[in-house]
Amino acid sequence: MDSHLEAALRRRIMDWVGERAEANGGFVHRSELLEFRIDGAKLPIIDYSRGIRNPSSFESTLSIVSTANGPYDDTESEDGLLHYAYRKGDPWSGDNRKLRNAMTTGMPLVLFRKEAKNILTPVFPVYVVDDYPEERMFVIALDESFTFMGDVREMEPARRQYALRLAKQRLHQPAFRTRVMVAYETRCAVCQLRHGSLLDAAHIVPDWHELGSPAVTNGVALCKIHHAAYDQDMLGVTPDYEIRIALDLLNEIDGPMLKHGLQEMHGRSINLPVRSADRPSREHLAWRYDEFSRKSLR
Ligand SMILES: [Zn+2]
Repeated sequence: MDSHLEAALRRRIMDWVGERAEANGGFVHRSELLEFRIDGAKLPIIDYSRGIRNPSSFESTLSIVSTANGPYDDTESEDGLLHYAYRKGDPWSGDNRKLRNAMTTGMPLVLFRKEAKNILTPVFPVYVVDDYPEERMFVIALDESFTFMGDVREMEPARRQYALRLAKQRLHQPAFRTRVMVAYETRCAVCQLRHGSLLDAAHIVPDWHELGSPAVTNGVALCKIHHAAYDQDMLGVTPDYEIRIALDLLNEIDGPMLKHGLQEMHGRSINLPVRSADRPSREHLAWRYDEFSRKSLR
């Protein structure tokens, strides 16, 4: 296929993946990727059984799937880049050739991070930026700028910091969002709103704090209004999962959003994830509730 055509198709695929992820709450379902069609023709975006997708009409790899093990996954390395092992077999043909083509042509790929069964977090565009034949490994970066910097294994400290910051924003936060959405079945824990595009994965302890890890137990699914109210200490959650509304808000008189959306939530319990391992940590809730009560219950 002509490279301009291939580039244009990729853009359309990525736009579609972005729209689906937005609607779902940050993730895509395996089945919708497999059933994808473009101009009437079937074009699965991931492979049925393998972790790499190389459509026969494409010169460069379209997508790779990485499996998350615990909070970070096996391809993610400490330098903020992805180390992707050569596929089995001949390093110069098949999948390996198409990965190398992606590097030489600069074609962007989609990385799908598998968070749970049939649930994938898309991260795109990503780029194959380096090839280490002696280690049978490609390096994949979240930013094109890593293409032109020589040996990525010897990055300057400032560059390394940038790579780590990028990994946090573009890999770890989206993965956190997906895990929280899955745990709460894409529902606001306060009001039960079910629109993925209106929901956030809120941190209980903020991520700048040392306890503020991107773990499900430090997260809660909240709609945009309840997230903002939580972050601004207008709404609190006790370590026993009870909702409290700030005293000044309880005493205010205003329209239906204040009355039904906030005041009536006072004293209710949040909806918890079905799996007890996904429930919010009481220690984290206590830390946060302490902040809330100092500011908002007097
Ligand atoms: Zn809500």
